[in-house]
Amino acid sequence: MTPINTETVFRGLALSGGISVGRVCLFNENRHSNLPAYKVAGDGVDRECARVARALKLVSERLERVRADVAQRIGQAEAEIFVAQRMILEDASLGAEVLRAIRERGCNAETAITSVLDFYEGQLQQVDDDYIKDRASDIGEVRRRLLDVLGNMRPSLQCGPESHCQRGHSRIVVAEELTPSLTLSLDPEHTIGFVTEHGGINSHAAILARALEIPAVSGVPHIHSLISCGTEVVVNGDTGEVIIRPSEETVRRLVGDRGRTTSGARAAAPVAGLRVMASISRAGDVAIAREMQAEGIGLYRTEFEFMAAGRVLTEDEQTDLYTQVATAMRGHPVYIRLLDVGGDKALQFLDIPHESNPCLGFRGARLLLGNPDLLRTQARALARASQTAELHVMYPMITGVEQFRKLRAAFAEATSDISGQNMRHGLMFEVPAACLEAERLFEIAEFGSIGSNDLIQYLFAVDRDNELVAHDYTAANPVFWEVLGRVAAAAHAKGRPISICGEAAGNPAHLEALMDAGIRQLSVTPRLIAKMRAAATQRGVPRPT
Ligand code: PEP
Ligand code: MG
Repeated sequence: MTPINTETVFRGLALSGGISVGRVCLFNENRHSNLPAYKVAGDGVDRECARVARALKLVSERLERVRADVAQRIGQAEAEIFVAQRMILEDASLGAEVLRAIRERGCNAETAITSVLDFYEGQLQQVDDDYIKDRASDIGEVRRRLLDVLGNMRPSLQCGPESHCQRGHSRIVVAEELTPSLTLSLDPEHTIGFVTEHGGINSHAAILARALEIPAVSGVPHIHSLISCGTEVVVNGDTGEVIIRPSEETVRRLVGDRGRTTSGARAAAPVAGLRVMASISRAGDVAIAREMQAEGIGLYRTEFEFMAAGRVLTEDEQTDLYTQVATAMRGHPVYIRLLDVGGDKALQFLDIPHESNPCLGFRGARLLLGNPDLLRTQARALARASQTAELHVMYPMITGVEQFRKLRAAFAEATSDISGQNMRHGLMFEVPAACLEAERLFEIAEFGSIGSNDLIQYLFAVDRDNELVAHDYTAANPVFWEVLGRVAAAAHAKGRPISICGEAAGNPAHLEALMDAGIRQLSVTPRLIAKMRAAATQRGVPRPT
């Protein structure tokens, strides 16, 4: 198909309200188009039946985890979606029919599952009722989940390892179909919109998108093949319009001066005793942070500016971005993180050598120490931006006192000729060793921010991006809260501010535990600010003394 080069409007079905402007990430659900098909007999029949039994068990466990997660993050009613899918999965007659197909027709597990579930899905599709048709998609999703397990596959963002890929961060995700698993797996903390080719208004995924307040439009034919990753689009979840390559004028008309990344989420006023700040990935995100009445920027992930540009930004370019954010927040604290590159956030243009274990490799603080020019340019830009407004500089992935000292010294050396600097220097607590050394670190660090995403990953040795071990990736483990409590106590003992960012900070179900751990400053995705404040109002946050 011919690529779209000028502003083009498509009309689809409005699934979830609000307007988002941003770049797209193409999402690639496993198509299961080349499924293995083979005949079996004798032991082979038993083997295929055992594969089915294993897949049923694993999918059932996964659905239970998703249900618990949704119940906690979104609500009981939305969690029921996954109870319904589990009921389909555990329906005795359906399982028996799949096994009968293997035994009687001598076919493999994939063929049996596809033929049985396709049959039921087809039956429901024929009913002349939109609600029932949308329920048919649950059968489709159960089938996809079973086939994913049988084929050891995981759905992925299409651009994956490309340097410009932001893995859905601050992106509008474009997919063929919006399934509940897709809606949830795409980090609702960061995804700002959905556009799909298929999916009804009553589909569970649409219900979830609405609960998450993410604008979504479906029914846009061929959109997945018409645009490429990185294309700018507007998703208007109120009218069902999708505008590809919108002009400046169109963006202004639709979102006024709220900037190019915005949403229809509702704001809530600040609550005494709890500071809720915004985590952002692009300077343009301050618009929504302000719209949501954020009491500061608690985390600005600067590496995403580099990813979006596809190159190293110059000192002047960075100075402009950081000054923009600091001035837009008008006196509220602004925490800007030094580049956290490496691990799952590779920047191809940096020419980092291939590593077999990148999350334990050349990442964050280590990478900065190994790339003095990169650090120098960013340090100078931050120092210059701080001439306009105070900045908090966060050092990522710090492993201990010596490393922090070294990086701090390199920063000071790079900026020694810049007058009028107004910066505080602190670190992210993401590595267990740094947490154990918190008291000593707070002797030299002026603040700390707990990066809950990586802290869970390293504390429990569990890959934060690997669905196969997702059941072990949880903030529910009391050990995590014990570590948080210790870091917060060390901060209080030394009179240093402590905050938390990452997913655990934006989950209302954790508010109680955060309070108990002595944490009163959070940084969350802008659209979650109101939810955390609502939870705090309900609970009654301790007033500041
Ligand atoms: C974290 O680890 O919690 C964090 C906020 O950093 P990131 O998610 O960018 O790694
Ligand atoms: Mg991190």
